[in-house]
Amino acid sequence: MRADVFTPAQRSAVMRAVKSAGTAPEQAVSEAVCALGFRRRYRRGARLPGRPDFAFPALRKAILVHGCFWHGHDCKRGARQPKDNSAYWATKIAGNRARDAASAAALVAGGWKLLVVWECQIGDRARLARQLQRFLGPPPSPPTLTSINSRRRP
Ligand SMILES: [Zn+2]
Repeated sequence: MRADVFTPAQRSAVMRAVKSAGTAPEQAVSEAVCALGFRRRYRRGARLPGRPDFAFPALRKAILVHGCFWHGHDCKRGARQPKDNSAYWATKIAGNRARDAASAAALVAGGWKLLVVWECQIGDRARLARQLQRFLGPPPSPPTLTSINSRRRP
């Protein structure tokens, strides 16, 4: 994409959208994953099809965090239609969706299990944690509190 396709106003709107669609949801997922005991068990942006946001090589599982607008989610946020350049955005989002589908198919063909976390699902942190726990299963090592609790007094 050439840089001059955007007016300055459009560019700042894009930057705002990127910020709200990217940073915070990925941070929330990262915190939840660590809280579940998977700290240092995953890689960010691994060289896999679609560059999944979180890859767990030992489990062969990957988590994709999708912004609802950019990836065309079937929700209120995903249904937003920019007034300017609507044809451009429709094409762009259709392209993103096609790429997502191709990447997901390639990962599954390689034996990976996938979980897509949508931006609109991040707000409910308890639900997010349950969703991640169901997907990832039990943590890889026992919780560190066990060693403290096992020091029982007679
Ligand atoms: Zn959504």
